[in-house]
Amino acid sequence: MSGVFSMNPLHLVAVTGGTHGNEMSGVTLVKHWLKDSTELARETFTAVPLLANPEATEKCVRYYERDLNRCFTRDILNSTESQDEPYEVKRAREINREFGPRGSVNAYDVILDLHNTTSNMGVCLIVSEAHRHLEMHACHYIQTHLPNFDPQIFLYKEPGSELYDLASVSKAGIGFELGPQPQGVVRGDMLQKMKTLVKVTLDFINHWNQGMEFPAFEVDVYQRVGHVQFPLSPDGEVSAVVHPSLQDRDFFLLHPGDPAFLSLDDQIIPYTGEQPVYPVFINEAAYYEKNIAFILAKKMQVSVPALSSTSQKRTL
Ligand SMILES: [Zn+2]
Repeated sequence: MSGVFSMNPLHLVAVTGGTHGNEMSGVTLVKHWLKDSTELARETFTAVPLLANPEATEKCVRYYERDLNRCFTRDILNSTESQDEPYEVKRAREINREFGPRGSVNAYDVILDLHNTTSNMGVCLIVSEAHRHLEMHACHYIQTHLPNFDPQIFLYKEPGSELYDLASVSKAGIGFELGPQPQGVVRGDMLQKMKTLVKVTLDFINHWNQGMEFPAFEVDVYQRVGHVQFPLSPDGEVSAVVHPSLQDRDFFLLHPGDPAFLSLDDQIIPYTGEQPVYPVFINEAAYYEKNIAFILAKKMQVSVPALSSTSQKRTL
């Protein structure tokens, strides 16, 4: 049979939380698993919990000096250490040494990186690109096994941009982005969903290691294509808020001319793009520092080939 991709068993698995120190589902779960990792054990492997940014977690802020989840760039990972560099730059290199190095045979097989958003994203599974077949199968397995979570798949890497996130250190990486949850707050419903997502994904990896075969499928994904900034007044201050009719409408189609913002003098400011798009991360608190109001995505259907962990079982 042609079109079957094979990969090796997955034994080195990490679950990372606190990459952003105020996203509390991951922080809380990883702290719990650092005390007792029983829930991360399967027959074929035990996942390692990692509190990715302890300094930011301690202070309950997104980051201490720089956003850790943007520090895994080629330039930073390949640079040599210097005294006065930001804490997160050092930390990115440490994590890359321990769980990578990225692109090497020694790198971890899988990293599951746990995040929360203040946006109404529900359960969002973040993968870098559509051709990441193992990650796409994991996402499909999650969608199949947790249909009541209605998980959406978001591809964060725009064509031509480089990898920069923590989960890119390992051979396969998935971000779990759950919301809405305020920064610094743990909601019980979000925590339970996060825990279930991790459980089901570890089950998928275990099945993979036991030789289960995963047939080809087609799936809808949301590909990041850009972002929209808040309107600014001449003095650089934000002059409008996300329009109430757009608030919480993540993954709903936004057409040119639809209300996007409401100015402080009550004027409707429409979306002025040329094509309908799917807005996501609408009104995400962490993006205010960059004046980003929401991210834009286009919906695409992706064909994912069958996967098998044991190629010798296959007659090609
Ligand atoms: Zn985050």
